[in-house]
Amino acid sequence: MASGARNGGGGLGSRTTAKMDRQQGSTATPKAPAGKPRLSAAGGGAYRRTSSGPLPAAGAGGGRNSSESGVSSRVRVAVRLRPRNAEEQAADADFADCVELQPELKRLKLRKNNWESDTFEFDEVLTEFSSQKRVYEVVAKPVVESVLEGYNGTVMAYGQTGTGKTFTLGRLGDEDTAARGIMVRAMEDILADITPETDTVSLSYLQLYMEMIQDLLDPVNDNIAIVEDPRTGDVSLPGATVVEVRDQKSFMDLLRIGEAHRVAANTKLNTESSRSHAILMVNVRRAVKGRSEMNVSMSAENGHSSSMMDSLRPPIVRKSKLVVVDLAGSERIDKSGSEGHTLEEAKSINLSLSSLGKCINALAESSAHVPVRDSKLTRLLKDSFGGTARTSLVVTIGPSPRHRGETTSTIMFGQRAMKVQNMVKLKEEFDYKSLCRRLDIELDKLIAENERQRKYFDDEIERITAEAQYRVAEAEKECKVSLENEKMKYHQEYLDSIKILEEKWKVHQQSPKKQIKEESTSNGDVQDLLQNEKMLRQSAEDESNDLKNQLSHWKKMEATATAEVVRLRRMLDTEASQKDKLEEEIAVLKSQLMQLSLDADEVGLTADASFYVINNVSE
Ligand code: ADP
Ligand code: MG
Repeated sequence: MASGARNGGGGLGSRTTAKMDRQQGSTATPKAPAGKPRLSAAGGGAYRRTSSGPLPAAGAGGGRNSSESGVSSRVRVAVRLRPRNAEEQAADADFADCVELQPELKRLKLRKNNWESDTFEFDEVLTEFSSQKRVYEVVAKPVVESVLEGYNGTVMAYGQTGTGKTFTLGRLGDEDTAARGIMVRAMEDILADITPETDTVSLSYLQLYMEMIQDLLDPVNDNIAIVEDPRTGDVSLPGATVVEVRDQKSFMDLLRIGEAHRVAANTKLNTESSRSHAILMVNVRRAVKGRSEMNVSMSAENGHSSSMMDSLRPPIVRKSKLVVVDLAGSERIDKSGSEGHTLEEAKSINLSLSSLGKCINALAESSAHVPVRDSKLTRLLKDSFGGTARTSLVVTIGPSPRHRGETTSTIMFGQRAMKVQNMVKLKEEFDYKSLCRRLDIELDKLIAENERQRKYFDDEIERITAEAQYRVAEAEKECKVSLENEKMKYHQEYLDSIKILEEKWKVHQQSPKKQIKEESTSNGDVQDLLQNEKMLRQSAEDESNDLKNQLSHWKKMEATATAEVVRLRRMLDTEASQKDKLEEEIAVLKSQLMQLSLDADEVGLTADASFYVINNVSE
C-alpha cells in the first residue's frame, strides 16, 4: 500500500484527505467500533441520490481543480438473506435460522444460541422475500445514477459460496424478467439515460483467478497487466478487450459470451467459478452540453469573443466507470489442498480476498498503512474503497445454522466496510482530442478555400492578360491598315499630280507661241498646283501625326494594361505569402495543441493552465 502522497489523493492510499474531509462530510453517520453491534441510526437517506447536489464541476474557467477536493461519501452496505434451499429445508427442518432480520429497523440479529443474539445495523436489510427489482433499487440504482452524473461507481457482492452473489448481480432473467440481476438492470438504466449521438458506453469483462487477470471477452488474453497512472494514481487495463455497447441485446450477448468463457476457463484450470472474481467494467463517456456555449456567450458579452477563441475552446467530457464485482466465495479454502490445489495455489487463490479484508480493516480503523499493493484485486478496487468512487456493497448470507461461522465473518466484513469513507469526485475533463479533431477539420477547410481562391486569382489574371493582349493587337492592326491606306492614297495623289504636270509640260513644249501667252497662266497653274501639293502634303503629315498620336495612345493603354497585370500579380503574391503565414500560424497552433493534449495526458494539465494557454493562443 502506497502512502497518501504517492497516490495523489485518490484511492485507498489517500488517508490524509479522507480523514480531513470526513469532518465536513454531511452524509457520514456515527460509527460503532469494529466488531460491536451497530445501534446508531444509519441515516434514512443512506441510499437516496446524493443530497449534496451537483458537485463543483470543471468548467472552462474553473478547471479540474474545483472538483479536486471531492465530497465525502461512506461505503453503503446492504445484507441479503437467501431463502432456505431444498437441502436446507430438509436437513435444517428442526432448527431455527441462525439469523433474524428486522428490515424496518435495518437490523440483523445473529443468534448465538436460544437465548443470546448479537444485533447489527446495516444501511439496508434485504429479506429472503426481497425482489430482484427492490435489491437493484436500494443497492445499485443510486450508484448507477451517480455514474451517469459523472462519478465512478462500484457495486460489489461478498459472501460465502452459494449465498446468492451471482444471483444478485449476474442473473440474465432470460426465462423470467423479474429475475434480472444488477448487471442487466444497471445497463438498462444506463442505455436509457445516455444520448447516443454524443455519449458512449463500453465495457470490459474480466476474471481474476490466482492473481491472473483473464479477459472473458477474449480468453487468449489471460494475463492482463494493471497499469497505474503515476500522476493520478488511476488504474487501467489497457490490455483488456473493450467493446462499445449500443443496445441491451448486444450487452446480454456479451454477458453470455463472458459467462461461457468463464466456464471454459475454469474447466481448463480445474477450478470452480466460486474461486474466481468476476469483474464487469462499464465505461460511460458523456459530452457535457451547454457549458461551452454559455462561456462563449459570456465572452461575447465581454467583447472578447473571436472565432479563434471559440474554436480553441475544448469541449468538456465526463468519463465515469461502473465496476460490478462478483467476488469469489468468502469461505476459507482448505490449505491442505483438499480441492486438488497445492498449498502455494491455495495461498494464491486466497490472496486477493484476504488482501481486500486487510485493506478494509485498515481503512475502517484509519490505519496509517493500507496494503493496496498486496494483491491485484485491491489494486483494481483502489478507487472503490477509500478512493473517489461511490461504492455499494451487498453481503449475502444463508440461513443455515451450520454455516454460522461463515455467516458471522461475512457480517463482520460488511460492518467494517460501512466505516470506509470515500471522497467522490466528478470525473470531468477537457476533451483535447476532439478539439484537435475539430481544428484539423477547420484547417482542411481553410486549405481548400485557399486553393479555390488561388485558382480564381490565376484565372482572373489569365483572363485580363488575354483581354489586354487582344486589345493591343486589335489597335495595332487598325493602325497598320489606316497607315497603309493613307500611304497609298497620298502616293496615288502624288502620281496623279506628276502625271498632270507632265501632260502640261508636253502641251507647253508643243506650242511655244502659246507658251509665252500661256506661260504666265501656266506658271500660275503650276504654282497653284504646287500650293495644292503642299497643302495635301501638310494634311497628310497632320494625318500621319494624328495616327502616330493614336498609336502612342494605344501603346500607353497597353502599358497600363501591363501595369494592371503586374499589380494583380503582386496582389496574388501578397495573398500567397499571407496564406503561407496563416498556414504557419495554424501549424504552430496545432503543435501547441498537440503539446497541450500530450501534456494533459502526461502531467495532468489543470484547467487553469489550459485557460492560460487558450488565452495565450488568443493573443
Ligand atoms: P454464489 O454466487 O454466492 O455462489 P449463487 O448466486 O450461485 O451463489 O446462488 C446459489 C443458489 O442459490 C443458486 O441456485 C441460486 O439460484 C439460489 N439463490 C441465491 N439467492 C437466492 C434468492 N435470493 N432467492 C432464491 N434463490 C436464490
Ligand atoms: Mg457465484
